Amino acid sequence: MSNKKATPAKKPAKAKPKAATKKALSKNDVLVYVETEYGEIAPVSLELVSKGRELADTLGVNVTTVAVGKGVSKFAPQLFSYGADVLYAVDDKRLAFYETLPFAKSLCKVIKDTAPQVVLFGASPLGRDLAPRVASELKVGLTADCTELAIGPHEDPKTKKQYENIVYWIRPAFGGNIVATIVCPDHRPQMGTVREGVMKLATPDKKRKGTVVKVSVPFTGKDFVNKVIKRIVGKKKVNLAGANIIVSGGAGVGSKENFKYIHELAECIGGVVGSSRAAVDSGLIDHEHQVGQTGTTVRPKLYIACGISGAIQHRTGMENSAKIIAINTDPEAPIFKIAHYGIVGDLKEVLPMMIKAYKSKG
Ligand SMILES: Cc1cc2nc3c(=O)[nH]c(=O)nc-3n(C[C@H](O)[C@H](O)[C@H](O)COP(=O)(O)OP(=O)(O)OC[C@H]3O[C@@H](n4cnc5c(N)ncnc54)[C@H](O)[C@@H]3O)c2cc1C
Repeated sequence: MSNKKATPAKKPAKAKPKAATKKALSKNDVLVYVETEYGEIAPVSLELVSKGRELADTLGVNVTTVAVGKGVSKFAPQLFSYGADVLYAVDDKRLAFYETLPFAKSLCKVIKDTAPQVVLFGASPLGRDLAPRVASELKVGLTADCTELAIGPHEDPKTKKQYENIVYWIRPAFGGNIVATIVCPDHRPQMGTVREGVMKLATPDKKRKGTVVKVSVPFTGKDFVNKVIKRIVGKKKVNLAGANIIVSGGAGVGSKENFKYIHELAECIGGVVGSSRAAVDSGLIDHEHQVGQTGTTVRPKLYIACGISGAIQHRTGMENSAKIIAINTDPEAPIFKIAHYGIVGDLKEVLPMMIKAYKSKG
């Protein structure tokens, strides 16, 4: 395995629509691991099936998926509608909840049997546990926490060996100050984890069909050495990733007292409250509201950034928002470079006016 800087990406080829299941069960496909705990598919897995479809069309191969759990075959129609051609279902009642060892064994079996060229995992807590274990078992590289993926050529700078159709694993590095492109040209599969919320969901096509392949894994007692005595599931208080509107406050909000404007505006317009890391570090709001490189990546229809300067680590988490409004006293604040609408002013004056305007509209 070698991780090397890639040659600059050529514009990836435009995706061509192709008949589902045309080459079902072929090798060399793009395989997506599908998280299915609590009776539904994790949003990041659907994002990866959507992105996997784009990559597979560029490579001229299928999108295969693998789900491990109890009754996972039922997810097939939804996966096919987002672009998958095949679901490998490791269906076993002992796998109702995630456990590292049997899940890793299942993934390794499917990967060894089907020899995909690319494997994608969500960079969720589960994916961050599972993917390294699988990569280490298969003795291949793993690029963690990617924010973009593309396909292109690569030339080894030392040997001048040329490679075609290599995955560019793109992610922030050195504290987010640079964006690194990583390639694993010599070993297969090329594997990576991808952040939640960064890949665009495809529009589902309910008429798409695919193939379900049941996979039997020869588990032994050793695969179930852990005994789960009790499961305590905490309820997620903030759903930033799924929000259509986010009103976000930064260090410029200044105090917990002033943060009430952020909460009030969010409530008025049916939004969710976000924040910068500086606001979290200053104790103005909890970490679960943080947007950015070390927080949540968001892609709402509307993002209102209040008293946020627009540091790169914040921008990487929100710059794909459909519309961005920035409110800042400093006309030179970097946030204005990516904002669609900018208001130069004190948020303590601007926000009450916005709240009044929305309320007066009923
Ligand atoms: C490894 C690493 C990871 C990081 N991860 C993240 C991350 O996930 N998310 C994140 O946000 N940051 C992250 N950061 C921190 C990031 O570099 C910035 O420090 C942070 O985003 C700054 O937050 P801010 O814009 O709220 O504060 P500041 O940069 O202090 O900006 C405050 C802004 O408010 C404006 N302002 C002040 N008063 C008012 C007012 N009354 N009305 C209107 N505007 C006003 C100011 O003009 C200024 O532009 C990370 C940093 C590192 C090194």
